[in-house]
Amino acid sequence: MSETGGILIVATKNKGKVREFEHAFAPLGLTVKSMFDYPALPDVVEDGQTFAENALKKAKTVGDALGFPVLADDSGLCVDALDGRPGVYSARYAGEGAEDGDNNLKLLSELERLKQGEDTDQPLLSTARFVCALSLYDPADGRELTAEGTVEGWITSEPAGGGGFGYDPLFYLPEFEKTMAELTLEEKQAISHRGKALRLLTAKLAEAQQRGRE
Ligand code: IMP
Repeated sequence: MSETGGILIVATKNKGKVREFEHAFAPLGLTVKSMFDYPALPDVVEDGQTFAENALKKAKTVGDALGFPVLADDSGLCVDALDGRPGVYSARYAGEGAEDGDNNLKLLSELERLKQGEDTDQPLLSTARFVCALSLYDPADGRELTAEGTVEGWITSEPAGGGGFGYDPLFYLPEFEKTMAELTLEEKQAISHRGKALRLLTAKLAEAQQRGRE
């Protein structure tokens, strides 16, 4: 990968993701720049069927436009009781331009709808997973690296916690007895879909650089 002088460009306008990438890359001495730093760039249309397709499209579109290596993240929540929805539509589950709170309410109301018709007062607890696909693309040589990470949990009907972003307050981790929004940034990074994908991508990058030196 070509050098960008201690700066890593991440193709996202999601402030929660930016915070997590800043936290992950600060120890490596890398300053994260996001699409907030390049407001003239048009939004990339996320029309892929998979997280990996969307991540690669974002990395390539932004990388080619800027002429620097770019990291892109496409991620979301797949809920088993909803046949994997909202999936790649996680950011706009409640409609185009939806806020996190709107998406969380929509998720709870979809699960509530499913519960009706079932003869129980118990909340419908569904298993779910967060998925994160990362793509790193260098326009100088066209090389691309991708990695994916997942984390398993449950959807709780009682949101808790003020950390994280998106669906974190509804994503319950039985082994911690907490939601993702109740974890610190460190704790989230250690177990999250994004943390796992980042560690895999970093390992793949080191391997590729080693091969390049041989
Ligand atoms: P993207 O920017 O198109 O990849 O959409 C990502 C969406 O998935 C976010 O807007 C959130 O709704 C959800 N999401 C992805 N990662 C996380 C996470 O770590 N916590 C909570 N929600 C997430």
